[in-house]
Amino acid sequence: MSEIKIAEKPQGIEGEGFFATKLSDVIGLARANSLWPLPFATSCCGIEFMATMGANYDLARFGMERMSFSPRQADLLMVMGTISKKMGPILRQVYEQMAEPKWVLSVGACACSGGIFDSYSVLQGIDKVIPVDVYVPGCPPRPEQIMDGIMRIQDLVKEESIRRRYTEEYRTLLESYNIS
Ligand code: SF4
Repeated sequence: MSEIKIAEKPQGIEGEGFFATKLSDVIGLARANSLWPLPFATSCCGIEFMATMGANYDLARFGMERMSFSPRQADLLMVMGTISKKMGPILRQVYEQMAEPKWVLSVGACACSGGIFDSYSVLQGIDKVIPVDVYVPGCPPRPEQIMDGIMRIQDLVKEESIRRRYTEEYRTLLESYNIS
């Protein structure tokens, strides 16, 4: 029989018949456990991601079984594979079409740094065109590593203030990418 684990409740004060906590903690908990990923998979790391989606690793356990191939219905951009310089503007357009709040997971050496392809045609890391929240190393990373990256994203989402997107720091980050 499988053991069902329920997400841990946020810190708060509880008594008989009541539980009080912060609104941002509840929203963080809901967001972290219902991420809708957009898989931007261009090569071999994408295959590893398919394995992560399969029954053995079962990404659905994270509330993520619903892949979104429309940026407007996604909040986690997962970039997996070699990104050529020609593809950079397309990746950026996809990022810009996603509504806030959104997070970016860079999977594998190619997406993180260009990997072994130190050539004229390959983007030397997606953070040259869009901000990245979590990097997963490896060529390719194993499904366990991809899941670890997703769990690090969940940690960020849970702890992020609901107002972070309006902060000066966040605006400055976007401005450094010329994104308004
Ligand atoms: S990091 Fe390695 S496995 Fe992943 S896309 Fe690049 S070459 Fe392929």
